[in-house]
Amino acid sequence: MSDIRENLQNIRKQLPKHVTLVAVSKTKPVADLMQAYEAGQRIFGENKIQEMTQKWEQMPKDILWHMIGHVQTNKVKYMAPYVDTIHAVDSLKLLKEINKQAAKHKRIIKCLLQIKIAEEDTKFGLSISDAIDLMDSKEIAKLENIKITGLMGMATFTENTTQITQEFEQIKNFFHLLKNKKETISTLSIGMSGDFPIAIACGSTMVRVGSSIFGARNYQL
Ligand SMILES: *Cc1c(COP(=O)(O)O)cnc(C)c1O
Repeated sequence: MSDIRENLQNIRKQLPKHVTLVAVSKTKPVADLMQAYEAGQRIFGENKIQEMTQKWEQMPKDILWHMIGHVQTNKVKYMAPYVDTIHAVDSLKLLKEINKQAAKHKRIIKCLLQIKIAEEDTKFGLSISDAIDLMDSKEIAKLENIKITGLMGMATFTENTTQITQEFEQIKNFFHLLKNKKETISTLSIGMSGDFPIAIACGSTMVRVGSSIFGARNYQL
């Protein structure tokens, strides 16, 4: 059995049924993704639009592609024909562009609002109050080719599990608040290789796991 297949099986064993696994395949070759595909994986996450599009072109068409990286508005058009979910949405401007490009293809693209929960300045995302304003804005209601299905967050990169738990609890509480207001909200995308068990304990419904499936990446992105 290949390592990738074995790693996938190990991770799946740790996931409750209601938690969806996004296999984060950034920087990895198509041959590696195909091993995961052959082991039954159908959801892949990438953080660069060009790389994701190249892989989409080469791979079976029943794959659901998730864009998990920061998105530049002018590049949305390249993934609009096929992307299933965009995880790191953090502005009305970006939502409008996704809506416009999705409409050209008569599609509805699922979007998650990225919430800033980490201490580090480098992590993108909205504050909770900005996310509330965005959800309440009249303009958002007019966007018919996007569907905001939930929230995404990244905890601080630290060994301090108390801190990680606190950060995940923040986004979880906001998630439940939103979920009670809007029926389209169902996804809480938190948890990566290093912290997904904590994220699951904090109510994650979607984990984004890369290196624990495909091995360490050769370069930092
Ligand atoms: C790379 C990446 C992941 C996966 O990270 P691993 O630690 O390799 O599991 C998850 N989410 C985002 C946004 C990423 O960029």
